[in-house]
Amino acid sequence: MTYQNFSLKQLQTMDAAHHLHPFTDHKDLREAGTRIITRADGPFIYDSEGHELLDGMAGLWCVNVGYGRKELAEAAYRQMQELPYYNSFFRCTTATPVLLAQKLAQIAPEGISQVFYGSSGSESNDTALRLVRHYWALEGKPQKNIIISRHNAYHGSTVAGTSLGGMSAMHDQLGGAVPNIVHVMMPYAFELAMPGESDHEFGIRAAKAVEDAILEAGPDNVAAFIGEPIMGAGGVKIPPESYWPEVQRICRQYDVLLMLDEVITGYGRTGAWFASQSMGIQPDTITTAKALTSGYQPLSALLVGDRIAARLVESGGEFYHGYTYSGHPVACAVALANLEIIEREGLIERVRDDTGPYFRQVLTERLAGHGIVGQVRTFGLMGAIEIVKDRQTRERFPGDGAAAVVVRDHAIAGGMMMRATGDTMILSPPLIWTRETIDMAADRILRALDLAE
Ligand code: PLP
Repeated sequence: MTYQNFSLKQLQTMDAAHHLHPFTDHKDLREAGTRIITRADGPFIYDSEGHELLDGMAGLWCVNVGYGRKELAEAAYRQMQELPYYNSFFRCTTATPVLLAQKLAQIAPEGISQVFYGSSGSESNDTALRLVRHYWALEGKPQKNIIISRHNAYHGSTVAGTSLGGMSAMHDQLGGAVPNIVHVMMPYAFELAMPGESDHEFGIRAAKAVEDAILEAGPDNVAAFIGEPIMGAGGVKIPPESYWPEVQRICRQYDVLLMLDEVITGYGRTGAWFASQSMGIQPDTITTAKALTSGYQPLSALLVGDRIAARLVESGGEFYHGYTYSGHPVACAVALANLEIIEREGLIERVRDDTGPYFRQVLTERLAGHGIVGQVRTFGLMGAIEIVKDRQTRERFPGDGAAAVVVRDHAIAGGMMMRATGDTMILSPPLIWTRETIDMAADRILRALDLAE
């Protein structure tokens, strides 16, 4: 039995009766009714009533090679027939996680050649948190266990992910975070730069907040700093160019590990395999998931720097951590095929040299001057549009993000799937978007902005 046997109404009724959705107000959902996406092809998704939507979010920042890739389905099918599952515990493993680990070591930044698998970004950040604390314990410094993160960061929704993250609404529902995690200001010049402060100066000041937190805790007590190179769910916040080099310098000065969360920025989105490469950062760990399989299978990979990996191996002793599906053979087979598509089709170079710059040009030329747009920013194929009531003063509309929701709803009604987070509209399209797709997106977003004005 497939979904085609059911009407939209029937599916919505069953959904309301039995399905609790992630990050959803269920009272509101029941009143509004669920949108049911039934199929997808290339850059488009289709709902159960046949409406076509240009997917400006690549699913949830993940479908980098676009929809309908038979090659990925075939890779899964082949692997499922040959060996659907075996684990990587107890001195065993299977072939595809090994091949994938080797591939990831080839494309990872310098100094990173080991991989620890999970099934989601949240799991991978749990692994990262445990691993860096374990590392310092093996170094004979168990008290060096404080992690510094940023307000409004998103690192997943498990207890550790939420604790690492800086979303206050999530913390409010946590009933007690993982201890020894502190949060500092985010590098968000649009709202936090002082009058007259240049982007460069602001970036240095935001990095200084990391140093202040290290000094306050005492460098001997600080294990690591964690950050998304570009904050994603928090509103595509692109730091000034001065920020990351300064954060890296500070981490090195105090021997604090640098953990990057590239769950969104990994695998091509910024015009390099990893944003660390686009931005010249050399982290100790990189959390990745999502576009590792372009969302065709759940899989995450924590890329572990040689310093940490070498200590783990040299010290010996078991790291009591892992998941049944760490290195799932089918997910890894799909990841291998996905990375092959990204390479074969030159998607990363395309973002870097063609569609990324064009995306910036079109959004800037066509949307940045709109009456309710306060700022447009892009990096590779990630973009943000700040919705404001007054372009000069940057005053927001009342209602805490309500205006962006209105823009989003007009966009969806006009065939453009995009997301509103706070007062920011965000875009993170599949890397297969062409110049024509970018033009089409700009037309549809402009119409939504006009209707919302
Ligand atoms: N880290 C970042 C930067 C993310 O954007 C996300 C999800 O959006 C996560 C971690 C959590 O990943 P997952 O939802 O796969 O657990």
